[in-house]
Parts: sequence; structure tokens; C-alpha cells
Amino acid sequence: MPHTHQLEPERPFHLLDLPTQGKQFHPDRETAESEFKAYRKEFINLQSRLYAEGKQKLLIVLQAMDAGGKDGTIRSITRGVNPQGVRIHSFKVPSKEELAHDFLWRIHTVVPAKGMIGIFNRSQYEDVLVVRVHNIVPESVWQPRYEQINQFEKLLTDTGTTILKFFLHISPQEQKERFQARLDDPRKHWKFSVEDLEKRKYWNDYMAAYEEMLQRCTTPWAPWYVIPADQKWYRNLVITRTIVDTLNRMDPRYPEPEADLSGIIITE
Ligand code: AMP
Ligand code: MG
Repeated sequence: MPHTHQLEPERPFHLLDLPTQGKQFHPDRETAESEFKAYRKEFINLQSRLYAEGKQKLLIVLQAMDAGGKDGTIRSITRGVNPQGVRIHSFKVPSKEELAHDFLWRIHTVVPAKGMIGIFNRSQYEDVLVVRVHNIVPESVWQPRYEQINQFEKLLTDTGTTILKFFLHISPQEQKERFQARLDDPRKHWKFSVEDLEKRKYWNDYMAAYEEMLQRCTTPWAPWYVIPADQKWYRNLVITRTIVDTLNRMDPRYPEPEADLSGIIITE
């Protein structure tokens, strides 16, 4: 059985002990890439059934440090999928209007509808991560959010949404290399912000904030997966496989036709 990298509710762990290297789980990159392509084909097929069925919803949450691979993951796993059935939302620094509401307001308006797959590039979790590390609001405000998020996710799952949450776990060394690659390539400069270097100085604080939120927000209804993400090929394989396994369990079916169509021949 391949490793799922899924956290268990209530089971303590140290984030620093969890691997960022996928190589040890799958030493053979070439085989991994062909397995990934096979899973992606299956994903395309299952997504088409989910959309046609129009009943269930799947929400995929991606969190990571800067340069952790959120954009790349979205690009590679959604290739070939019917874009009509997938909505991707990237959550940035909240607008004035968003800040005038509770922190889940902007999230709730874009959760997936029936038949849809929603992918979140960052999410409600920023409100217990960046917000906590940089003291954007006092602890009395962010502390209750873990439970508020759990209850929000409970509402979503109780009403027909399946939730998958992936933390793309990279090492500080890997982040350094990816930042440098962005700096060295003018076509990647737009992806780099000086703030990213500022945030990098808070690496340990971020890891502590991630560890606590992964611990407190791994629930039976919405578990976290901590994906070793230093090797993109391993990351892509595990995430696509997890999505496929999940969609297979959801078992979406093409709806029955309204009438018996088998004898109909179009003559003109
Ligand atoms: P990027 O993902 O590179 O486009 O950057 C988006 C930025 O928005 C990141 O620096 C996030 O930390 C920040 N961000 C996202 N959500 C929030 C939030 N709720 N509060 C503060 N900053 C946020
Ligand atoms: Mg960025």
C-alpha cells in the first residue's frame, strides 16, 4: 500500500519530523510520472461523471509556504480536465470589503456547488497562519478560529461536500532554491516579492503555526494530508492519487436518461 500522508485526528506529531522528500517513498521518478499520468486520466473521467451527476461537491484546499508549489500543483493536476466543472480560487490579502465581514465570508461565497470541484489556492487557513505569525489581529481573535473553521467544514461536509486538505511540505533549502530560480529568470520575477524574503525569516514561527493548525483542524470529516513536496513529481503523484481515491469512494454516476433512448435513430 502506498503511503497516504494523511494525518489522524488527535494524534500528536512534530511537523519537523514529517518528510519533505518524496524520494524515499518512490525512488523511481520515471515510473512515478507514468503512474501520475494514468491517475490524471482517471481523474478526468471521474470529474466528468461528477459534473454530469450534478449532486456531490469536492473541495480541495492547498496550503504551503511561498514557493511551496501551489500554482504548479494546480497546473499539473487539472490539465485536461473539463474547465466548466472546476473553479479555482486564489485568496490574497483581504480587501476592505472582505475585512468588514467575518473571515469565513469570502470563503463561503465560493465553495463548490453541486457537481463541481473547487480548488483553493490558500484558504481560510491564512487566518490562523500569516495573521497569527505577523500579529495582524490579537490572539483573542485568531484563537477561536480553529474551532470556527472546524465547524464551518462540518457544515460543508454535512451538506454534501467532500473536503481534501493538502499541505505542501517543503524544506527551507528547497524554498531557497526556488526563490533563487525566480530571481534568476526574468519571466519569473512577477512571482517574486520582497515580502517573501521577509516572511522567510519567520520560517520557524510559520512551522509552529502550521503544526498547531494541522493538529487542531484534522477532523474525522476533513483531514489534512502533509505531502512531501520537495520533488514535484512525487507531490503530483500523491495528490492526484488521493483525489482519484476520494472520487472513486464518492462514486459519481452518469444520470439515467429521461426516456429509453436505445431505439431512437435520427433520420433527418
Ligand atoms: P500569493 O499567493 O503569492 O499571490 O500571495 C498572496 C498573499 O496574500 C500571501 O502573502 C498571503 O499570506 C496573503 N494572504 C492571503 N490570505 C490572507 C489573509 N486572510 N490575511 C492576510 N494575508 C493574507
Ligand atoms: Mg507569492
